[in-house]
Amino acid sequence: MLQELAEGIRARRPRAVARGLSLVEEGGRAGQELLQQLRRTPGSSWLLGITGTPGSGKSTLVDRLVAALRNQGKLVAVLAVDPSSPFSGGAILGDRIRMQRWHADPGVFIRSLASRGQLGGLSAATVQSAALLDAAGFDAVLIETVGVGQSEVDIAAVADVTVLVLTPGQGDGVQAFKAGIMETADIFVVNKADQPGVQRLRREIAALLSLGAYGPEDWKPPVISTVALRDEGTERLLARLEQFLEWQEQQDGSGKRQHERLRFELRSLVMRELDRRMAELTGDELRSVQEGRLTAADLAARLLG
Ligand code: GDP
Repeated sequence: MLQELAEGIRARRPRAVARGLSLVEEGGRAGQELLQQLRRTPGSSWLLGITGTPGSGKSTLVDRLVAALRNQGKLVAVLAVDPSSPFSGGAILGDRIRMQRWHADPGVFIRSLASRGQLGGLSAATVQSAALLDAAGFDAVLIETVGVGQSEVDIAAVADVTVLVLTPGQGDGVQAFKAGIMETADIFVVNKADQPGVQRLRREIAALLSLGAYGPEDWKPPVISTVALRDEGTERLLARLEQFLEWQEQQDGSGKRQHERLRFELRSLVMRELDRRMAELTGDELRSVQEGRLTAADLAARLLG
């Protein structure tokens, strides 16, 4: 049965892909085995991570990118991850609207992931869903995450390229972002460039980037202004994304990116299991440390055992 499902996924049959993603998201044995099979015949998907605060225009921008990639004849999948609100209808509703737009196009597959990882970050299921879509033969997999908490940092570990979407006139500007994500973004987008404050925001980003010591060989993150609402700047963004991909391929012959992604996936699985064991800790075990009968390190080792 898994064999059949795997074949359906490789043939990119929408129902098989959807069913496979559900299995993977459930995190059970069947999903793992399905993935194991699919990983034997990898595709060559390009994983684009897009993050930014809610309302910065990510969904609108992703939609524009999907259209631009479709114009190039590419097969595109979108994973919309909303780790902050796994049960809220917001993301799902937006997805429905989007799904309707691409409904008639078999070259586009859209899916929202409600799964939640560590500290509200991305989970192993995100990486695994992307791996499934890769095996299904999508040329590009766009992972859209709400830039709150950990997910904005995680996305850089998962995606081949990370785009951070900022908007002018937010008052707090780039300060709102943790240093972590500013350092991991490969491309900055100043969306809503039809609004006042664009130059100021660009200056702020430039000032921040000037702190990073880039060598001549390094990728210096470009800042691209867009008006996603009117489809302005999309082609420029796509061109930069492609340029980054070329640069990355030159740098990374040994598949370092892939390994970083797998490390992330594994760490997520380990942490989930550890959380489960922590929840099972008994008062007795805790008292054994408290009362000096056991070292904390010994108890930790027992948990990991
Ligand atoms: P997300 O929450 O980051 O996915 O943001 P959305 O794509 O849902 O956009 C939030 C709002 O901003 C929507 O009302 C969009 O129509 C609007 N929006 C998106 N891009 C632009 C833009 O370039 N300019 C302006 N003025 N509004 C935009």
